[in-house]
Amino acid sequence: MVDAEVTLLDRGRVFADRGYVVDGYSMAGQSNPSPDHEMAEFVVWNAVVDHPEGTVLWDTGSHPDAGDGYWPDPLYDAFAHVDADEHRLEDDLDAAGYALDDVDAVVMSHLHLDHAGGLTAFEGTDVPVYVHEDELKFAYYSAKTTEGSIAYLASDFDRDLNWEVVHGDSHYLAEDFELLHLPGHTPGVLGARIDLPGETVLVAGDECYVDANYREEVPLGPGLLWSERAWFDSLQRLKDVERRTGADVLYGHDLERFESFGGGWNR
Ligand SMILES: [Zn+2]
Repeated sequence: MVDAEVTLLDRGRVFADRGYVVDGYSMAGQSNPSPDHEMAEFVVWNAVVDHPEGTVLWDTGSHPDAGDGYWPDPLYDAFAHVDADEHRLEDDLDAAGYALDDVDAVVMSHLHLDHAGGLTAFEGTDVPVYVHEDELKFAYYSAKTTEGSIAYLASDFDRDLNWEVVHGDSHYLAEDFELLHLPGHTPGVLGARIDLPGETVLVAGDECYVDANYREEVPLGPGLLWSERAWFDSLQRLKDVERRTGADVLYGHDLERFESFGGGWNR
């Protein structure tokens, strides 16, 4: 274990139909031909891992102009990050006691627009930005063609960034700070295992948006799933780590879960 601290940054709220996130939620049936749909509330979070080898920022949130035309209209209508403009990266870092200059490295769990919107802060700097090979390839393929996924914006990541490409299933970023390749939601999702003195923190990220994806093994809805087969394999990998370590599992967008950790794991 390593004497590190993990501080969670609240980057705001997204409202979306729960059916996107939990497959089969509120489906019509003979007994209930017109089920109600509602917008559920989700969190966007980042984290600062204050590690003896350096300060690492986990993800960068949404672009502050997400609701002001920066995100394509149909996408914002479905996934509304209603307060992105009140959550600038430097302000949310500042509230947690950090400045942009303190960040020695950035890890991108993946490059979707609610994670990559703050990368511009690192443009033209030598701060390494870690991303999985499969993610960087798929992000460009998606953003630059009509194939792939619509949730990648070239304007977020097609910039002068100091990319550090992660290959394979596992990569030790620092002592007791392991990056895990968790394909499923996208081809190149990265999670993490951080072994702190008190407990292990297991970052599932968008492999699991909410608890139902993890505990009940209900996949994300089809629109959020690149590969269901890979998703199930990645889920078992996370559960193996949890079984061995008793880790606290941090999901991608579960507000209740996020709040239960009370700001992170600090001494
Ligand atoms: Zn996300």
